[in-house]
Amino acid sequence: MKKAIFFVTTFCLVFFPLEAQDYWNTEIISVEKDQETVKKLMEMDLDLLMEWNNRVYIIVGFNDFLKLQKENIPYTLETFNFYPYKQKEISLQGGINGKYHSYAELERELLALQDSYSHIARVIDLGDSLEGRNIYALKISDNVYQDEQEAELFFVGCHHAREWISVEVPFLLGKYLVENYDTNSQVKDLVDQCEIWIVPLLNPDGLEYSIHFYHYWRKNRRDNGDGSFGVDPNRNYSYNWGLDNEGSSPFPSSNVYRGTSAFSEPETQVIRDLFAERNFQAVISYHNYSQVILYPWGYTNQPTAEDQLLDQIAADMSGLIQSVNGNIYEYGQAGADLYLTNGGMIDWTFGTYNIPSYTLELPPIDQEHGGFFNAEEDIQPIFNENLPAMLYLIDWSVQNLGSGINPSARREQRYGPKANLKDKTQYGREARDGREDKDTTQNSKLKANEPKTSGVKSKTIDIGSKAINVRKYSPMVIKEHKRKKD
Ligand SMILES: [Zn+2]
Repeated sequence: MKKAIFFVTTFCLVFFPLEAQDYWNTEIISVEKDQETVKKLMEMDLDLLMEWNNRVYIIVGFNDFLKLQKENIPYTLETFNFYPYKQKEISLQGGINGKYHSYAELERELLALQDSYSHIARVIDLGDSLEGRNIYALKISDNVYQDEQEAELFFVGCHHAREWISVEVPFLLGKYLVENYDTNSQVKDLVDQCEIWIVPLLNPDGLEYSIHFYHYWRKNRRDNGDGSFGVDPNRNYSYNWGLDNEGSSPFPSSNVYRGTSAFSEPETQVIRDLFAERNFQAVISYHNYSQVILYPWGYTNQPTAEDQLLDQIAADMSGLIQSVNGNIYEYGQAGADLYLTNGGMIDWTFGTYNIPSYTLELPPIDQEHGGFFNAEEDIQPIFNENLPAMLYLIDWSVQNLGSGINPSARREQRYGPKANLKDKTQYGREARDGREDKDTTQNSKLKANEPKTSGVKSKTIDIGSKAINVRKYSPMVIKEHKRKKD
């Protein structure tokens, strides 16, 4: 009976208010129902939902969390218990962040990988976040302490704090590569021929805030000085930074605030500096949600000069992903679909280094299937379905090394033989660049996978138990990209 009352109350009081309110920024919490707390709650003008089992349930937005924190009132996050969809699946059994990694948990596991696989894995501290956390890269290669003339790839996760699955997928790639190196000859082959750089957690301050305080936090934790916090790291890269106020926001309180200048944030600075030192050939930046693969440009709906190549690789990755669990990841040019962005990472990596660059929006497909939060049981399946596409891009880079795509010579032409990392002025403001990894596919111009076959040879990549047929491109030369004047 109590249960029945609970659910009736739930449906009447929760779902309607949730729809009426800002669904995206709303959580449901419970606090213990003692007299002193209730008195405080009443004074705080909160949206009280119900009382049940000696706890008070409250619908809270961001400002309400600030009030609760100020009053030192402990609370339990209950949102997942109220989700209309996938109630059971969106589970976090192992504590507040379940099987998702916190900063400390990730740090521990990265260092453990380095210890166990020291011949092929190396952890590098790229620099500090605003709150002093280390931004780690995991480098995987044979002769991992040497800089060899090999293809280099870059996989990054968690520009955005609430996108927890985007930490897990690149991290699991690193784990998979080192754990299978000795037993899987194809993994060994790839690792021996390239240098794979993985930054699973670019925005550690934001992630910690999302785990411990406000789940839907997106930006970093920059104190903007006007009472608002956070710069959107994925609007802070220099290529067409701040081009317009559609693709990013000049207002500090906005979720897509671009910062006071390009590369004003440590998260983007470490990427900038790493790219100046390395010679990356391909890039994937992981986000969620919506299951799409996007390529530049984001700042305009005009295609890049390499649209066909970028599209072909995306189509192949989409096909490989689909072949695992049947999940469809649509693909297309970021700026040609949905909305524009400026100051985003992939426009910068493509615009500056002329390399295939992708934003990969991981599952779920929409808000109704969990939105930003996947069930912890889904972490491994999501990685599994993405693995073949990752291996494919690695293999593509190995095959295309020396084909003219970002050779060292060209980099040296741009930056001198050894880029002086201290001299920030050389990066300046290339011009103006820019997409929010938004969450709706309404009016989508993205393509469902109808993989193209022209110019493609077949190859099999073995991913453990499953052999997947990969269509391989013959090497193509990306033309020199004409940088706009500063
Ligand atoms: Zn994102």
